[in-house]
Formats: sequence, C-alpha cells, structure tokens
Amino acid sequence: MSSAGLLIAPPKRTCDDARCPFHGHVKVRGKILTGRVVSVSDKQTVVLQREFLQSVPKYNRYERRRGKVHAHLPPCIDLKEGDTASVAECRPLSKTISFVVIQSRRSD
Ligand SMILES: [Zn+2]
Repeated sequence: MSSAGLLIAPPKRTCDDARCPFHGHVKVRGKILTGRVVSVSDKQTVVLQREFLQSVPKYNRYERRRGKVHAHLPPCIDLKEGDTASVAECRPLSKTISFVVIQSRRSD
C-alpha cells in the first residue's frame, strides 16, 4: 500500500480497486478540494458541493457561489450524504470524473 504522495493517514481498510489512490494505480497530482457530499451513487461515484466567495469589484463585496465536483469513491473509504470529504485531482477516470476521494470526515 502506498501513501499516494499525500500527507494524510491512509484508510484503515484495504481494497482491491485499481482506481484507489492508496491500493490501486491512480496517481494524484494537482488540486485538493474539500466540500460537502450531496450525492453517493452505487457506482462508486460521489458528488461534492463547494461554496466559495467571489469578489465583485463594482460593488466592493463578495457574492456566494457554489460548484460541484464529481469524484471516484474507492471501496476502502466510507461516505454518506452530508459528510465532508476531500478529493484529489487525478487523471480523467471518465468523461466527468477527474478526482478521487482521499479522506472523509463523518458528520456524526
Ligand atoms: Zn483502497
């Protein structure tokens, strides 16, 4: 098992998913994003929603924006809707997925 080049604790469980950054062959590089899980599908895919503030110079204020990130969920990480999770950028795994879940913070 590899640390996937990340400074976080690897999951306690192991898995045999080739697309797992810890137990498979997917390498992560680039961005690491954190957000709230709004959808978990049984096809090992989660949707993360992130809220951020965008500066509006004309009014000298910020507006709230939100964006969604689709990510692959390896079987060694437990997640449910409402949890906070971190995802790391990787190679494109499908048409819309270029991130993989690396850490979950359970909401309970
Ligand atoms: Zn794994």
